Amino acid sequence: MDIPFLDLKAVNHEYADELKAACARVIDSGWYIGGAELARFEKAFAEYCGVPFAVGTGNGLDALILVLRAWKQQGKLKTGDEVLVPANTFIATVSAVTETGLVPVLVDIDPATHNLDCAAVEAAITPRTRVLLPVHLYGQLAPMPQLMALAERHGLLVLEDCAQAHGAQLNGRKAGNWGHAAAFSFYPGKNLGALGDGGAVVTSDEELARMVRALGNYGSSVKYRHDYPGVNSRLDEIQAAMLSVKLAYLDADAESRRQVAERYLRGVNNPLITLPGVSERNAHVWHLFVVECVERHALQQHLARRGIQTAIHYPLPIPDHAPYKTLKLSLPMENARLHERILSLPIYPTLTEGEQERVVAALNEFRRENASGHA
Ligand SMILES: *Cc1c(COP(=O)(O)O)cnc(C)c1O
Repeated sequence: MDIPFLDLKAVNHEYADELKAACARVIDSGWYIGGAELARFEKAFAEYCGVPFAVGTGNGLDALILVLRAWKQQGKLKTGDEVLVPANTFIATVSAVTETGLVPVLVDIDPATHNLDCAAVEAAITPRTRVLLPVHLYGQLAPMPQLMALAERHGLLVLEDCAQAHGAQLNGRKAGNWGHAAAFSFYPGKNLGALGDGGAVVTSDEELARMVRALGNYGSSVKYRHDYPGVNSRLDEIQAAMLSVKLAYLDADAESRRQVAERYLRGVNNPLITLPGVSERNAHVWHLFVVECVERHALQQHLARRGIQTAIHYPLPIPDHAPYKTLKLSLPMENARLHERILSLPIYPTLTEGEQERVVAALNEFRRENASGHA
């Protein structure tokens, strides 16, 4: 039996009865947008993150965009202002910036964690820098205490991209609880995944929460009165109901992911494979388990021959994509060019112990087929 990179059917099957009941409840309610399910989920998710406000959006990209638009609407940002983003992230982090008329500046990353490098951030700050947009990549928080201190010193707004880090903690403080605002994605494959698209903004800033909600609802807070030029980006009742079911299991799921990660970290002893770095006091939620290997292509094929599916996050650096070729880079990128070395292994709550051990054994056999095994 092949081991899929991610088996979403199995993941959601765990909650199938509750999901179906919640879906039926929404169908029977006759109310499908902006109702009790959304209010219930927003309250629960804000509480989970430890912030007062959560606002559902259509997806994670829109959550990022709506915060930046709101800050422009409030006069805190203007077109052409610079936003520091990590050079290694999913494209959405960068498109949110360009979509709002702001200028992304790509900043180098820490070679161990692949999160933002604090010294590189400091070196990238110019008088035009207005926003710091850290990504908690793979499910591990960026170095937020240092980044928040830098932001404070330079008067920067901080927007956390938490799309991969629901429930992750640093010093006991959760993702989404550090910056002036944070954006989450509930894309089905994320750690807290809907059964369709979804996202949320969380913040302690009540004015910002109100503005984000209005901008995502045609610039309107009162029906048919439009105070701002807005868009349509809302979390619907069915997805909110699905997310309420799954939020209750998020911490248990993260614990299962941690057990997979621990088995990989303990078991893999192949010197050709570099394991991911976990920084101190981080409660990693392991959205992705990314190893590095100079012979990545051969390793991926070796695993595929053994029925183990892998993926690459991400195969191309951001400046190599056509629309972003002219982006400003803060420094020569020392560490961000890792796209040819990285490989993401299967990691999800329903991966069995037997499957995890098969992955470990296959990794240890790479280029050592004739070795005795435990060298
Ligand atoms: C998934 C993701 C997003 C975008 O989320 P969508 O819901 O797909 O729009 C943004 N940033 C990062 C880092 C992501 O992984």
